[in-house]
Amino acid sequence: MTTTKMEIVSDQPKSHGNSGQIPPRVIISFDVEEHYRVEAAYALPCSNEQKATYHQRMVATTQRLLESLALADAKATFFFVGQIAEQSPQLIREVYRAGHEIACHSWDHQRITRHTPDSFAEDIRKNKDILEQCIGQRVIGFRAPTFSILPATAWAIDVLRECGFEYDSSIFPVRHDRYGIPAAPRYPFLACSKTASNSSTILEFPPTTYRLLKYQLPVAGGGYFRLLPTFFMDMGIRQISRLPVPVSMLYFHPWEFDPDQPKLNLSSRLSRMRTYIGISSNHARLKKLLQRYRFTRACDVAAQLNNLPLHPSLHPYEISSPTTNLDTTQNRLSSSP
Ligand SMILES: [Zn+2]
Repeated sequence: MTTTKMEIVSDQPKSHGNSGQIPPRVIISFDVEEHYRVEAAYALPCSNEQKATYHQRMVATTQRLLESLALADAKATFFFVGQIAEQSPQLIREVYRAGHEIACHSWDHQRITRHTPDSFAEDIRKNKDILEQCIGQRVIGFRAPTFSILPATAWAIDVLRECGFEYDSSIFPVRHDRYGIPAAPRYPFLACSKTASNSSTILEFPPTTYRLLKYQLPVAGGGYFRLLPTFFMDMGIRQISRLPVPVSMLYFHPWEFDPDQPKLNLSSRLSRMRTYIGISSNHARLKKLLQRYRFTRACDVAAQLNNLPLHPSLHPYEISSPTTNLDTTQNRLSSSP
């Protein structure tokens, strides 16, 4: 029934900044980790028995999500934690056989801020290798746990390129206490570190934001999807569809669709609210969303963008630059190589 979906691909006017080479796209993605791995639970003890329970629930919920995606004829990108592939390789193959993209979400869900360049390289090589062994295909995409590519971890971009990744989706252009580079572009761009040469840029898919006056609201999924009316996500997607590279990136986690899972004993009220708000109705909301847009996988858009190396809007953006002023984004974009 794809004909009834909002055809964002064709109903938006082309902006002056869009050369017309890339029609608007909406990517849907899932970060697959067991619930106990969420950043808010980092210091919490968790027994092997509890970990096994969360793992089983993650597998079952991911399978339910596959059913919903199939019913909506939607293809998605799944960023997998490597240890899940070690424990349940059949899940990776099941997702892959359903036509979805398999991508990396680190070996054991540690933020990049806890790594050195060497330990990060080892981590993501292991993650990439095991996923590639599972599906017999090359894996090209990465998302850092908790969007942890920041000015202080810009070196990660060089490491990703050295390890053979072709795109990343770890830079959230918002202000947040745990992540975010507010001045980064809101649409796909070529991220590079201060030390990188032009050849070591990587295609970046920033999660979708909605610009309201001088604020950039995160509306790409996760807790924001559970907390805010869907209107904000729709408005964000609509705004992005008018930007120079009109590609929106949405993200969710399987544990956000499992209202019956044991709740973690999170210490702060804010963490509990962020983690559990809206979970009971979240799968129903997702099903409605799946009916309203025609979604695609990040690898398909990456292939399209990488085939257009001279696209005038894909500028290198140095993420280690000071990022204090929201209005200087355009000034930080240097010329295309
Ligand atoms: Zn994650």
